[in-house]
Amino acid sequence: MSRRVLAADPRKGADIDFLALQLIERYQPEVLAGNTAFDVEKFFEFDLEDLCGVKVDYRELPSGIYGVTDSERKECIISAELMDRPRKSDKYFARSTIAHEGYHAMVHIPEFRKKRAVLKSINDEQHASLCLYRQEDVPIYMNPEWQAFRFAGALLMPEEPFKASIRNGYGVRDLADLFQANPANVCSRAKALSILLK
Ligand SMILES: [Zn+2]
Repeated sequence: MSRRVLAADPRKGADIDFLALQLIERYQPEVLAGNTAFDVEKFFEFDLEDLCGVKVDYRELPSGIYGVTDSERKECIISAELMDRPRKSDKYFARSTIAHEGYHAMVHIPEFRKKRAVLKSINDEQHASLCLYRQEDVPIYMNPEWQAFRFAGALLMPEEPFKASIRNGYGVRDLADLFQANPANVCSRAKALSILLK
């Protein structure tokens, strides 16, 4: 199976992290103290549309689709069904999905509209696994999916409190609970920051 990936402007991980940090400082600076997770639902519901002019909503989406960002319609939709799931791992998955789609809304929608290209990003069950290794078309730093995943990690697990928690002895499970992210995302974030987790 393959999925065509449109190239985005090249971006470095550190630059993507910096954008996430600026947003945390602007909207929820208390997160940087390291005791509380970023409230990404609040950011999505109250701040994102004002920030970038993209309409946001929770709606019923076809089964297995968790988020859709559409540059033509200028909208970013998260699955209402996903938001209602009670399991902790689904809540954490919903948080990373919102952060991921939020990056497409803030950065890729204006970029693709300017280029008169169409971005229609659909976040389904295979999103994570497929998009990241479909690299034949596009180098990783120009892959909009890689960029959005990097951003989601940076928004939910900002570098300073993430590193401080590790220095304080936090393992993967503790980090997952503190930052409300699934363990796989914690591991990816550590890897992105070149940290070896015990
Ligand atoms: Zn995406």
